[in-house]
Amino acid sequence: MEYEGRICRSPMERSAYMLPVAVGCSYNGCLFCGLFKHLKYRELPLSQIEEEINRVVKANGNPETVFLGDGNAFGIDYENMKHILRYIKSSFSNCKRIHMDATVTDISHKTDEQLKEMYDLGVRLLYLGIETGLDDVLLQMNKDHHTMAEAAHQIERLHKVGIDYAAHIMTGIAGKGRGIENAEALAKFINQTRPTKICNFSIFIHRHAAMYKLIEKGEFVQASEFDNVVEGHRLLQLIEVDTYIDNMHDLLEFRVKGNVGRDKAKMLKKYEDYIASFPEEKKDYAPVMEW
Ligand code: SF4
Repeated sequence: MEYEGRICRSPMERSAYMLPVAVGCSYNGCLFCGLFKHLKYRELPLSQIEEEINRVVKANGNPETVFLGDGNAFGIDYENMKHILRYIKSSFSNCKRIHMDATVTDISHKTDEQLKEMYDLGVRLLYLGIETGLDDVLLQMNKDHHTMAEAAHQIERLHKVGIDYAAHIMTGIAGKGRGIENAEALAKFINQTRPTKICNFSIFIHRHAAMYKLIEKGEFVQASEFDNVVEGHRLLQLIEVDTYIDNMHDLLEFRVKGNVGRDKAKMLKKYEDYIASFPEEKKDYAPVMEW
């Protein structure tokens, strides 16, 4: 199958077999996200998806984890989703879990019975764009029209049927001067909702992204990369649940990852050493990407 778009999935899914079921993102409205803006959203025909699965079977592929793509695979037509899940089950005898990206709003559109049915058909983990701990930031970023309380409620519904969730978050998303406030609110949310994984892509802003217009209008002031590291450190300090976390501060080529239960002290030390040795003259570094 020819993949359309930019592949973006959590590094925690690197060993999964990625099976696209849609092109683009059905929501496509988050101001910071430019991944799929150039694509017209559409679901892929079932025949094309089956053909792709058959190709893998023919090549003796039998993955344990299947990751359904793309931006919001969970949001595809429910009957088609069930057909795909059944087809995966009958094709890959080794398959133990099916994962995908989802939105909070799309979970709210499913009944408890549908969620349970998805679990029975192999769905074990949904990646949700939690991004922040602050309602006003969700609103400013046009993040899927829900509040933090609604996100917590929908996650609880997932947990009741046995489906776990993983949180995509972005240090820096609350803007300059609000990193610690965001870290503290987000840690509270994480401790309450217990994600099994947290993937932090520290924010980077592209000149052509919708979000840049907020900067031009003076409605958002970008935090520096250093501020984002300090925010990541504070967040980690406050996380009390055992979860796997991967903090990617890519523009500084600095990364901190591990299991909070096992590696928290080591990870905090890595942050603290980095912060202590950070060059004074680079502390305001807050680039806008041009590519
Ligand atoms: S829901 Fe995810 S993929 Fe879709 S626009 Fe928002 S961040 Fe991008």
